Amino acid sequence: PVSTKRKRLISDADLASISVTNATRRLFGKSGPTKLDIALYYAMVGDFMLPHILARPVSLFRCPTGKLTDCFFQRHAFTGMPSSMATFDTTNSEGETKSYISVEDARGYLALAQFGVIEFHSWGSYRKRLDKPDRVVFDLDPGEGIAWREVVEAAVHIRGELEGLGLVPFVKTSGGKGIHVVIPITPKLIWKKVHQATSAIASQLAATAPQTFTTTMGKDNRVKRIFIDYHRNARGHTAVAPYSLRARTNLPASTPVSWADLETIDAPEDLNYSSLPGLLATSGDPWADIEDFARDLPLLSESRKSS
Ligand code: ATP
Ligand code: MN
Ligand code: MN
Repeated sequence: PVSTKRKRLISDADLASISVTNATRRLFGKSGPTKLDIALYYAMVGDFMLPHILARPVSLFRCPTGKLTDCFFQRHAFTGMPSSMATFDTTNSEGETKSYISVEDARGYLALAQFGVIEFHSWGSYRKRLDKPDRVVFDLDPGEGIAWREVVEAAVHIRGELEGLGLVPFVKTSGGKGIHVVIPITPKLIWKKVHQATSAIASQLAATAPQTFTTTMGKDNRVKRIFIDYHRNARGHTAVAPYSLRARTNLPASTPVSWADLETIDAPEDLNYSSLPGLLATSGDPWADIEDFARDLPLLSESRKSS
């Protein structure tokens, strides 16, 4: 059963703290939303979105001029960044030390619209437990010739397989043409093991319907197939956050849905900055209790992998 409880994470004082200059500036063309529309969207979905992003490293996709061609990913601290955001250093596998950022409270989150932040991407681990992820994602990327309905069917099929492995998968639209199947896991394994484990699971999933799936990255391999992208589950990699908008026409949102509702979606792009707040107000967050469903990620043996 979907919990519809709404925990208030954004107070009236937080809302009053929002400051947006050039509020009427339109983004992505004359009929696009204004900067204020984006700030209001994030204020309205914040109670649902914040539990999924707070205290995790984030990559922010910023479009400060409102032109799609001027957008860029921001993974590191930047000038004028909201003061409540955290910056912290970590060393990658190449031995390079890099500084990352995380959103730590409602005010820092609400202030980001002022900096032209359109998309939020986050790690599958918390800043304070950086090396042991608690969420993994199978990013289903449809190739040419795959219809939305087929991606939905594929996700439902994968759900069954994952449940057979003792996992509890959740689902969201990507905001593009794909679907993200997200699984809460007990934070026991380090990234390297998690990447290996998700690789083995992806291969096993693909083997259950080899005419539908591929686990090979190249575009040519994907024609009329769905690529099961498990590479989001590597240290330092990110996936778009639940409720994040996408910097595309009409600003669709990466929208968490219940498995039952997934099958009722005909056009995922209709879940966007203007429609989603109203829908959420009545339905609540279908992912509200996700952390209660963490299970151990199984380590399938290589012999069960398809070639
Ligand atoms: P869809 O596949 O439906 O179009 P998606 O979000 O799944 O949407 P992908 O291309 O499958 O898009 O995944 C790309 C992911 O890689 C992004 O969601 C983002 O988190 C990450 N990413 C890509 N480029 C960068 C970058 N320069 N910096 C940080 N993260 C990046
Ligand atoms: Mn994708
Ligand atoms: Mn992908």
